[in-house]
Amino acid sequence: MKPSHILCHYAEIGLKGQNRIFFENKLKSNLKTCLKNNCPESIDSIKHLRGRLIISLTEKGRDSLSTIIESLKNVFGLAYFAPAVKSDPDLDILTKKAVALLSELDFETFRITTRKTYSNAEFSSQKANEVIGAAVVEQLNKRVNLNYPEANCHVDLIQSRAFLYTQKIPGPGGLPVSSSGKVVVMLSGGIDSPVAAYYIMKRGARCVFVHFHALPHVSPASIEKVRSMVTALNKYQFRSKLILVPFAPIQNEILVQADPRYRVVLYRRFMLRISAEIAQREGAKAIITGESLGQVASQTLENIGVVGRVTTLPILRPLIGSDKQEIIARAREIGTYDISILPHQDCCTLYVPRHPITKARLQDVEFCEENLAIPDLVEQAVNNIEVEFFGP
Ligand code: ATP
Ligand code: MG
Repeated sequence: MKPSHILCHYAEIGLKGQNRIFFENKLKSNLKTCLKNNCPESIDSIKHLRGRLIISLTEKGRDSLSTIIESLKNVFGLAYFAPAVKSDPDLDILTKKAVALLSELDFETFRITTRKTYSNAEFSSQKANEVIGAAVVEQLNKRVNLNYPEANCHVDLIQSRAFLYTQKIPGPGGLPVSSSGKVVVMLSGGIDSPVAAYYIMKRGARCVFVHFHALPHVSPASIEKVRSMVTALNKYQFRSKLILVPFAPIQNEILVQADPRYRVVLYRRFMLRISAEIAQREGAKAIITGESLGQVASQTLENIGVVGRVTTLPILRPLIGSDKQEIIARAREIGTYDISILPHQDCCTLYVPRHPITKARLQDVEFCEENLAIPDLVEQAVNNIEVEFFGP
């Protein structure tokens, strides 16, 4: 029997009290966009029903179930989902459908798990379990095992409807993308920042990606790589904006004007100033980086502190306490690792001395910046950005 519906259970959204409708609506619109992207014309409707969202599949959707399942695994906010068969809440019909569903599976022991939610069915859950269970024993010659069943046939009775399913598929958890607001993610071509983006999307943020490039000092392939990265991350937020910022003019100035040991700190301060300016224009409320404490010379507490002084916007660092190995494992899981390890030149790795400063002091950094026309350089960079869109 082909499932005609998908029951979607939310993760934390259920706990949000008065905001619940807001979160549910975000999740609903994300589900729509996700399926429009990955499997067009697959859904008839998505309805709220007593703490769940119920997707009704078109004929095409019913025939593309595996694609739909794979796509839904990336929709934040889903605790689990279940491809289900719809039925009238009539015990005879439910029994026939349960037997038909279970006859497609390979198992010896089973249970029936009926749950009533504001149901107008006249029989109790217990009665349904007994009647359906007895039919399965008799017609399929299987045994009941309530504690460790090999197959579990769920019967959800919700208001005037009933749904049967045998498979509960875990979702990614988290909160629906866009429910927490917008952020700017500083996206390099490396391993860390895409993982940081993933974590912040999982907490409901919508990411605007900002990448600084050093064309013509680096090859155009480094930008192509960032585009592939945004495409990979877009499967979690469905529509993305990538802002490409020309950084070579600023680097040229720093090369000429400043003590080489301070280059990376100065690059970072400029990146952050420009990101903050972009955030303001985009209405984004925080800046996200892939920094992890102590991972490299620029990520000491001192340098993180001095770099952060250029903006009052919150800078969030989802990976600050993660080890490289943990980050790599997550990057593999979310599909960004293979892109990250493609060879590329990051603008920050250009012209970096062997012994960069690891404990920069604010007054020394400000001294290095004295000869730089900071507002002009920032304005020039922001005026020369290029914007690209991903998704439908
Ligand atoms: P990643 O793996 O994300 O490149 P990293 O370990 O290489 O991080 P750094 O090179 O010190 O660390 O960069 C720290 C953070 O600064 C990055 O995680 C990213 O958020 C930001 N960043 C670095 N280079 C760029 C760039 N070219 N464009 C945008 N953001 C950048
Ligand atoms: Mg890097």
